[in-house]
Amino acid sequence: MDLGIAGKWALVCAASKGLGKGCAEALVREGVNVVVTARGVEALEATAAELRALNAAVEVRTVAGDITTEAGRAAALAACPQVDILVNNAGGPPAGDFREWTRETWIAALDGNMLTPIALIKATVDKMAERGYGRVVNITSAAVKAPYEALGLSNGARTGLTGFVAGLARQPKLASRNVTINNLLPGPFDTERLRSNTAAIANKSGQAFDALWESRRKSNPTQRFGDAREFGAMCAFICSTHTGYMTGQNVLMDGGSYPGTF
Ligand code: NAP
Repeated sequence: MDLGIAGKWALVCAASKGLGKGCAEALVREGVNVVVTARGVEALEATAAELRALNAAVEVRTVAGDITTEAGRAAALAACPQVDILVNNAGGPPAGDFREWTRETWIAALDGNMLTPIALIKATVDKMAERGYGRVVNITSAAVKAPYEALGLSNGARTGLTGFVAGLARQPKLASRNVTINNLLPGPFDTERLRSNTAAIANKSGQAFDALWESRRKSNPTQRFGDAREFGAMCAFICSTHTGYMTGQNVLMDGGSYPGTF
């Protein structure tokens, strides 16, 4: 299937590794020019080199910086000639017990996983509407549908974003102009983040990492973790010209972990 997006420009945030990188790879394969961001320069430049090798016809630009800061967002936006596609992503907040979290802890989580995507949406969607095409994909989490006990900061901040997006996506001045805003909800994908989270839980509970990793793998109906390339392929499809009639949706990719019928 031709996704119809070759030549468009995408800003893919937090994309030197993991799910963001998977999205950037899939878009580049479809001929989309990308601006990719991350804080660490080395991994970002290595990823950019991989992306350029995937498709010599596209332009790949890098912006090193913290996307949760105003300066980081301004630099990312300035590097993108026009944002036709926006993939919102950032690191997830730490696990822990809500009794230990202060106002500052909460503000940091809200900044990263709610207010940053909202700021980038605000900076881009009206221009998308003027041009008659726009796709926003927010990488959230399966925790929005089924909260993880230890990830209260993530549960709270991401659900806040989800509620906001549910209203915004339905504004006729966006939806009728072919601008869609959807959320992509990862369950367990084999990335550095999942490995470090698992290591933290193993440490705390005194279990061996390998035993815990295996039991998590086996507890999924597919008996495996997701691959960032699968995630990226779904992201690219949602960004395609075929999805203008789908907006305000939460697309769950979790190998069937969520037990509900709907
Ligand atoms: P990952 O493998 O650790 O990759 C995170 C990427 O984001 C890296 O490129 C990292 O680079 C970049 N990044 C992190 N914080 C950033 C910031 N403030 N500004 C710019 N770039 C930043 O993580 P992942 O597994 O892909 O997770 C991506 C998102 O999905 C996270 O919010 C995570 O909580 C969520 N999620 C993941 C899973 C899963 O199973 N993997 C499940 C549910 C939800 P630098 O560190 O160099 O900045």
